[in-house]
Amino acid sequence: MQKAEIKKFKKVLVANRGEIAIRVYRALNELGIQTVGIFSKEDKYSLFRTKTDEAYMLNPEKGPIDAYLDIRNIINIAKAKGVDAIHPGYGFLSENPDFVDACNKAGIAFIGPNLDVMYAMGDKISSKKMAIECNVPIIPGVDHAIRSLDEVMEVAERVGYPVMLKASNGGGGRGMRIVNSAEEMPKEFAEARNEAKKAFGDDKIFVEKYLRDPKHIEVQVLGDKYGNVVHLYDRDCSVQRRHQKVVEFAPAFTVSDSVREKIFADAVRLAKHVGYKNAGTLEFLVDADENYYFIEMNPRIQVEHTVTEEVTGIDIVQAQILIEEGYPLDSPEINIPSQDAIPCNGYAIQLRVTTEDPANNFLPDTGKISVYRSPAGNGIRLDGGTAHTGAEITPFYDSLLVKIIAHDRTFEGVTRKAVRAIKETRIRGVKTNIPFLINVLQSDVWNAGKCTTTFIEKTPELFH
Ligand code: ADP
Repeated sequence: MQKAEIKKFKKVLVANRGEIAIRVYRALNELGIQTVGIFSKEDKYSLFRTKTDEAYMLNPEKGPIDAYLDIRNIINIAKAKGVDAIHPGYGFLSENPDFVDACNKAGIAFIGPNLDVMYAMGDKISSKKMAIECNVPIIPGVDHAIRSLDEVMEVAERVGYPVMLKASNGGGGRGMRIVNSAEEMPKEFAEARNEAKKAFGDDKIFVEKYLRDPKHIEVQVLGDKYGNVVHLYDRDCSVQRRHQKVVEFAPAFTVSDSVREKIFADAVRLAKHVGYKNAGTLEFLVDADENYYFIEMNPRIQVEHTVTEEVTGIDIVQAQILIEEGYPLDSPEINIPSQDAIPCNGYAIQLRVTTEDPANNFLPDTGKISVYRSPAGNGIRLDGGTAHTGAEITPFYDSLLVKIIAHDRTFEGVTRKAVRAIKETRIRGVKTNIPFLINVLQSDVWNAGKCTTTFIEKTPELFH
């Protein structure tokens, strides 16, 4: 074991809401650390608020989203309550270098990567540059922000249509446009820039080849403060709607083992190259010929981390906290003596149960949940935070109600278990995507392990 400098946390603030706030409170609680929560005025009656040792209301003037983005307010609460560290969850401030900087300046540990890494990997263009530096394949296109219409036309011509325009700071499936021909480009380019500026506060966009029907494969990594990095295998997140993940599973047995090994090696090399610390995910697209390309790194915990926890037995959120306290990966606390020591047992699936109504173009529904009966039983885990009988579902936040995670020895077995669990689930009062999730898991394409990122849009019968 390396000589480690450990600073145990007594109190940690979770700068987030909903299911991920509860997930982090639980990890902290199990490590014997006091939890501090924050909530917006709109979240006054939300369940997550009651699951923390203390909770404080954010500025009610700011509005439901901006309250959680108010760095000054959050740092002030953290200082006033004497917290040692902040966990950002996902979304909100989790990838914001200004927030990391503000934590550093306040002498509060940020549970995530260092500031320079946040700059290097936090946006898509600079993470592409890092990939090029260490010979990780990227999708043909550019490695810088596009400066003019002429330039984008020239690159698109070179790589061949269709191409994709992407906002460098985009996320959550937003800020992407497919352009099919040179005629469409002037309009799409202007709109993409405007949209990026409005939605992400910066009009940096780039262009790359649009891959037809790829799989989305991602690698979970963990790095400690001493330069050690391991991967915790992969996840297949190809089942997407409008570039947003709906169902995820681990491991990505849908890609051949020889290619998976290459992807693991590239992911670890890239993470080491940038000096990555804490939990992160490197995302790749894999085409029908199993060519693979790095697309971006998410320097934070992800919604679908649960499936990796199920197959490896590693609590990723606890590992994040312990890493930040200074424990090396091979310490008894984290217990990852080497890459080879990490098991990958069976298969796990995560279903995102949302209030999106498949019969109505997936419009998120709102209202009071009149009945909530959750599934249970062998191999089923629920990560929730919004849904319970009597809960009021507001339109302010994402539509995720609960994540149902199933684990079993085989893919067939875990699929059956996930179907069984979702059929046990009863949610009344708001529309949900449950019928749609059942259709996905009962489709031939799913059962053959052949889903690609266009599966949902090409299979309208799933919606009924
Ligand atoms: P976000 O940060 O919004 O999640 P990503 O860059 O991770 O965006 O891409 C999300 C999804 O968009 C991918 O999983 C894939 O389905 C699709 N996508 C992104 N880039 C391409 C591309 N060049 N060709 C085809 N699909 C793409």
